Amino acid sequence: PLPQHPLCRPYHHPPGRVKRLVLSRFFQPQNLREDQVVGLESRSAELTCKSQRLMLQTGLIHPAGPGCYHYLPYTIRAMEKLVRVIDQEMQAIGGQKLDMPTLSSAELWRATGRWNLMGRELFRLQDRHNKEYCLGPTHEEAITCLVASQKTLSYKQLPYLLYQVTRKFRDEPRPRFGLLRGREFYMKDMYTFDCSSEAAHQTYELVCDAYGRVFNRLGLQFVRVQAAVGSIGGTISHEFQLPLNIGEDVLAICSNCSFTANVEKLDPKQPNCPVCQGKLTETKGVEVGHTFYLGTKYSSVFNAEFVNAQGKPALVEMGCYGLGVTRILAAAIEGLSTEECIRWPGLLAPYQVCLIPPKKGSKEEMAIELMETLYDDITEALPQLQGEVLIDDRTHLTIGNRLKDANKLGYPFVVIAGKRALEQPRHFEVWCQSTDEVVFLPKQGVIDLL
Ligand code: ATP
Ligand code: MG
Ligand code: MG
Ligand code: MG
Repeated sequence: PLPQHPLCRPYHHPPGRVKRLVLSRFFQPQNLREDQVVGLESRSAELTCKSQRLMLQTGLIHPAGPGCYHYLPYTIRAMEKLVRVIDQEMQAIGGQKLDMPTLSSAELWRATGRWNLMGRELFRLQDRHNKEYCLGPTHEEAITCLVASQKTLSYKQLPYLLYQVTRKFRDEPRPRFGLLRGREFYMKDMYTFDCSSEAAHQTYELVCDAYGRVFNRLGLQFVRVQAAVGSIGGTISHEFQLPLNIGEDVLAICSNCSFTANVEKLDPKQPNCPVCQGKLTETKGVEVGHTFYLGTKYSSVFNAEFVNAQGKPALVEMGCYGLGVTRILAAAIEGLSTEECIRWPGLLAPYQVCLIPPKKGSKEEMAIELMETLYDDITEALPQLQGEVLIDDRTHLTIGNRLKDANKLGYPFVVIAGKRALEQPRHFEVWCQSTDEVVFLPKQGVIDLL
């Protein structure tokens, strides 16, 4: 179950009525046709991929400007679930969560030379005293400076694995593909501090394994490839890539050994594996995570030291690790969905169950009440589904129309009260997304299935 968060509380109900989540009260501009969606985006960006189109059509996101989106309530639900999985895996390896300012002083960036190196990707601004800042695109400088301020750090306290989940800002030359490449996006960034290079390498593998567990739990197939270090720097680097055709990265995979790399690190013209000379095949990927072994690149600039076992000061050995939170959401939708229907990793579906009562004025109208009772029975019998079940109460629409919407949004379970709900014995129609099956079940059967 999710923690008690304002979004999990059914506050969008008319006061005084039974607390059931009802679709009609959701803020979710829905049902847009493709041409309407193109109209929406033309103000800010082109319509470039399936996840972007589906997310716009179903009211998961709304464009605000080039590479900037409003994340609407369903997206926030999915994102909170994703962050929860990430939190669990980061904390299982000793990660501690913090939150650093978005405004990052130019001084810090000048110290490492990245104020110039980052070029036009940095969003720069000045305060009223003409002091310069950027909007954080990543936080190596800030965190190293923070750790350096701890003057009495002992080797006994290390390693530190510090992370945050925050908005990052990058003035991308070509923001596109919806949430896959935004100018404002959510990233989980972790920074690790060890007392030796050996320990730091162990930590590096520990975090990579945790990343693997995040993707496995989401049911997303990934490849871990050797990667170029770019402007972050360091010596060892890997990317976590989801093999997808719309990916902007090209991956070289050896058909013979375990060698895999982003061609940014390889000679792109090299047809053979540098390890075993086997044949390399290329595939496209979306970079969803990136890990770097930094050594003392940043700690030497900010003098981030600890006192070692011999009582002497020494520089901390660092690593940094990014996961693209909003990119993972969009990439999962891109990979799992059909052209017309969103499919989520089961763990991330914004709501698990959608109940569709019959149309008002139809022969089955009496079953509307049955649906409300079913809602209460499900949430009472299955506390883990509290806040996860909603009723599509737009009973002026036919069941068919609402089923189409539900299919498009990709609830793992859709339960319909149709003709057979009024016959004896009563049966509900259940659509199970994961098995692509439709079954008729009595009430207890529905509860057992869920
Ligand atoms: P890319 O090569 O796609 O531009 P990057 O290598 O610049 O990404 P990193 O600096 O490695 O990105 O950042 C860590 C992670 O943040 C990336 O692996 C990706 O998942 C995510 N990310 C980076 N840029 C964006 C963006 N513009 N929109 C959404 N997510 C992003
Ligand atoms: Mg980039
Ligand atoms: Mg990259
Ligand atoms: Mg990267």
